[in-house]
Amino acid sequence: MQAPRSDNTADVIVVGAGPAGSTTATYLARAGVDVLLLEKSTFPREKVCGDGLTPRGVKQLLALGVDVSSSDWVKNKGLRVVGGGVSLDLDWPELTSYPNFGVVRARLDFDEMLANLAVGAGARMRQATNVGAPILDDKTGRITGVNAKTADGPVTFHAPLVIAADGVSARTAIGMGLEKNEKRPIGVAVRRYYQSQVRTNDEYLESHLELWDRSDPKNPILMPGYGWIFGMGDGTVNVGLGVLNSSKAFGRTDYRALLKAWMAGTPEEWQLNEETATGGILGAALPMGFNRTPHYKDGLLLVGDAGGSVNPFNGEGIGYAMESASMAAEAILQALGRPDGLGREQALAGYPLAMSDHLGSYYRLGNVFSKLIGQPKIMAAATKLGLPRKKLMYLVLKLLAGLYDTRDGDWADKMVVALTKMAPRV
Ligand SMILES: Cc1cc2nc3c(=O)[nH]c(=O)nc-3n(C[C@H](O)[C@H](O)[C@H](O)COP(=O)(O)OP(=O)(O)OC[C@H]3O[C@@H](n4cnc5c(N)ncnc54)[C@H](O)[C@@H]3O)c2cc1C
Repeated sequence: MQAPRSDNTADVIVVGAGPAGSTTATYLARAGVDVLLLEKSTFPREKVCGDGLTPRGVKQLLALGVDVSSSDWVKNKGLRVVGGGVSLDLDWPELTSYPNFGVVRARLDFDEMLANLAVGAGARMRQATNVGAPILDDKTGRITGVNAKTADGPVTFHAPLVIAADGVSARTAIGMGLEKNEKRPIGVAVRRYYQSQVRTNDEYLESHLELWDRSDPKNPILMPGYGWIFGMGDGTVNVGLGVLNSSKAFGRTDYRALLKAWMAGTPEEWQLNEETATGGILGAALPMGFNRTPHYKDGLLLVGDAGGSVNPFNGEGIGYAMESASMAAEAILQALGRPDGLGREQALAGYPLAMSDHLGSYYRLGNVFSKLIGQPKIMAAATKLGLPRKKLMYLVLKLLAGLYDTRDGDWADKMVVALTKMAPRV
């Protein structure tokens, strides 16, 4: 929209160059907006994640123009659900709204690729820039910039609009008084990479509804949480597990010990043990179901994990971070195209409304779902009842992965749409 005014001033500051921040920056920079993208770490940097994208996430990559045809992207054709003694391969559905494949790619280079996309579009990225407190206008309380620490000392950056894309830490939002809603779901998950030739190539993302400690083969113990094993296609696998705050075990569990106990009980030929582990067990939280709102306040827009945009049904966050980014960018472009004043503010207020229209009802259902599956008895009954029924699982896959057409879909799409219509938006 206009040439950079100074090195530390821009039309829009984006805090955090994860999927949410880099996607927002790319859309804005492509439209000619002067964007400063501030990232505390230096690429390539690790991000604790399962590295899996369902077709929902792939759609966002395609929308950005990312070419996912190369061998950097390990394709998958569905989800394998394991539990109750059953293993079921469910192919991603054929839909108008989403592609029929997912991908796996390590966040180590996935995030760098997305950040480079933003830079290629014209965003000015500053790495090793740790953003701290927001700078507020004394009279209006609006955000006008951010303070940051760099290797050269403290720096201030200024812009009339700031995007909080700093992930689950949500430091920028907290600095504006936006606390998380403790009633909304949040998970804690850990993951580790292992060398496993047997499991590295898998056409399905594998999800475990039950985690068993089989250290005493005669007396296997059902542990809390849900797990995944995603083949990385390069000789390694990404293995992890998560526990929801609706579970009694939340916050009282040694998640690392849980992962080790689960791995110890997996078949020997899978090679998932201390010798094949390629790094430590790392963990982080997953903020779900819009656990931090409003998504817009006084010049600050919350995107991705900073706004709690992880899907409460399945813990998927990359695609949703990118969806929120595209909606935030759209609202900002509409705002910047209007004269400063009420009209601009109304356009910005359109962002939380768009988020709510897009995901509010679906996330309301997901929030209820996450409460239910935190109860081991309900989960066990659902697994026993649901898994052997392929038709039911087809519906469950569409619901849990958010993969349904809202118009002209099949019977399962229609059921999911009907369910979301009954749920008030979060
Ligand atoms: C163990 C685990 C497994 C997961 N598995 C999956 C999965 O398989 N698939 C999936 O879709 N989702 C998964 N998720 C969720 C997913 O990782 C997140 O939803 C996603 O990364 C959100 O993107 P984001 O851009 O909002 O935040 P982030 O990816 O967290 O990016 C935030 C960025 O902001 C930077 N930052 C933070 N604070 C500051 C600061 N003060 N100043 C400057 N920069 C800052 C960070 O360094 C980072 O680069 C998983 C999460 C966990 C914890």
